[in-house]
Amino acid sequence: MKKPEITEFKDLLEEMQSRLRGDVNQLTKAALGIDRQDGGGESKSPTHMAELGSDTFEQDFSLSLAANEQETLTEISAALQRIKDGTFGLCEICVKEGKSPAQSAILKPRLRAIPYCRTCVDCARKREDVGI
Ligand SMILES: [Zn+2]
Repeated sequence: MKKPEITEFKDLLEEMQSRLRGDVNQLTKAALGIDRQDGGGESKSPTHMAELGSDTFEQDFSLSLAANEQETLTEISAALQRIKDGTFGLCEICVKEGKSPAQSAILKPRLRAIPYCRTCVDCARKREDVGI
């Protein structure tokens, strides 16, 4: 891949990273009742059982959302590392199978959609087929 293209993906990844980092912090804080914007000086303890229920639900939901985003962040860090290593944009599986870098390249539209993806479309499909 050419350098300007790598830079484009690096910018994209870094932008996603900082946005997700903010999200994860916000979601986790909100879920745990820290830094609530609607809280003000009011009591944070729920007054009705119904409220308690929905609070717990929202907390679980926000935390699982935060966990998903945390996973994406891990993938983004790995992709940024691949940029440093010079292996960004290559399908991990194709490389392992001994294909040349040209044959292992992940197509640009796929990278634009998921800049942190590790495999080409073909390998991703094969992986789904065998249920990994
Ligand atoms: Zn592949």
